Amino acid sequence: MNGVTLLGSTGSIGASSLDVIARHPDRYQIVALTANSDVDTMLAQCRQWQPQFAVMSDADSAQQLREQLGSTDTEVLAGVPGLQQVAALPQTDTVIAGIVGAAGLLPTLAAAHAGKRVLLANKEALVMSGHLFMQTARDNEAEILPVDSEHNAIFQCLPVTGATQAQHFPGVEKILLTASGGPFRTLSAAEMNDVTPEQAVAHPNWSMGRKISVDSATMMNKGLEVIEARWLFDIAVEQIEVVVHPQSVIHSMVSYNDGSVLAQLGNPDMRTPIASALAWPDRINSGVEPLDIFEVATLDFEKPDWQRFPCLQLCFDAVKRGGSASIVLNAANEIAVEQFLQHNIGFTDIARVIEKTLEQAEINDAVDHIDDILAADRDARNIATTITTNLSRL
Ligand code: NAD
Ligand code: MG
Repeated sequence: MNGVTLLGSTGSIGASSLDVIARHPDRYQIVALTANSDVDTMLAQCRQWQPQFAVMSDADSAQQLREQLGSTDTEVLAGVPGLQQVAALPQTDTVIAGIVGAAGLLPTLAAAHAGKRVLLANKEALVMSGHLFMQTARDNEAEILPVDSEHNAIFQCLPVTGATQAQHFPGVEKILLTASGGPFRTLSAAEMNDVTPEQAVAHPNWSMGRKISVDSATMMNKGLEVIEARWLFDIAVEQIEVVVHPQSVIHSMVSYNDGSVLAQLGNPDMRTPIASALAWPDRINSGVEPLDIFEVATLDFEKPDWQRFPCLQLCFDAVKRGGSASIVLNAANEIAVEQFLQHNIGFTDIARVIEKTLEQAEINDAVDHIDDILAADRDARNIATTITTNLSRL
């Protein structure tokens, strides 16, 4: 039996993970579930899965869950220490990192430190702490298996060398990172000024949480994924090319020096990469319908439009700049997306907030320690918050 800690069980990745795990009761057992403050969903999940631990990040929510669960074998923990504890339990073999945003960093790092198999959905953790995270994984023989669909596709198309990446892959010339282009792929720059949060979260191909849906609409998501790929596969950013592919059938490709281009295809459903990473190197049923290649019929490819999607360039610039630039970029984006979702700033303001935060924040070259990373994140959030407040007053 493989013991699983599911970080972010009440979210979109959480739901897809539980769907896959429910198909394989003989292989996987839920040890711990975690969420931020959604007590109702967590209560239902605890009743169904009877985990040893349930963690609510929010202390009041933890207390509510305790009261509502009543007498049970599930121990309810609270806060970041609770998340870190369940990420490192001896009875846990696999940690699914499905928390959204910087909040996922410490628990995901705890899983790497404890030498677990880490199914990484929380790309922000890697964007913030790429070097430290991969080094921690190597030092503790943790297996980092990507769940982000593009990175999972790349992983499947790379030569088989083991699950802890960041090693040399012979013959690889380029990674072709595919992007759907999001819901505003064909809008003009002027039209993008007026789009609403409701339009931004309505992704044409994928059903996801609100933050990543907005990131897909700005193409920030693709930029964050470039940074994710750079660390995960230890590849130069110059070797990563973004390809807009509106059908989201090819999930990414790897181009080799002999002219071969390997691609992974499938229906856009996160249960495929989750099942692939859970069982790797085995294969298990994920519940995803087989791809009907005749129904797909056509695959289109376009170059990204750097003018209409400035977040993409900001990400390439940040990863090339190095140091704390990616941390600042990520923090500013989280603040800007939240303010956009609350109707306080416009859609095109998101890129402006990130750009201005990067201009105003001090970029530190040495961010080798977790405290430096958290400090850079905190400072950037303060700067971005001031910038968004001033923007919304205009
Ligand atoms: P979501 O918003 O649906 O769920 C987020 C989960 O994180 C919830 O369980 C929530 O309770 C928890 N959470 C939120 N804030 C927290 C906090 N402060 N402390 C502790 N827990 C907190 O998000 P999602 O779409 O499932 O995305 C999760 C992660 O996976 C993101 O990093 C995203 O980029 C990545 N990802 C998602 C998809 C997808 O299809 N949804 C695809 C690729 C990558
Ligand atoms: Mg992705």
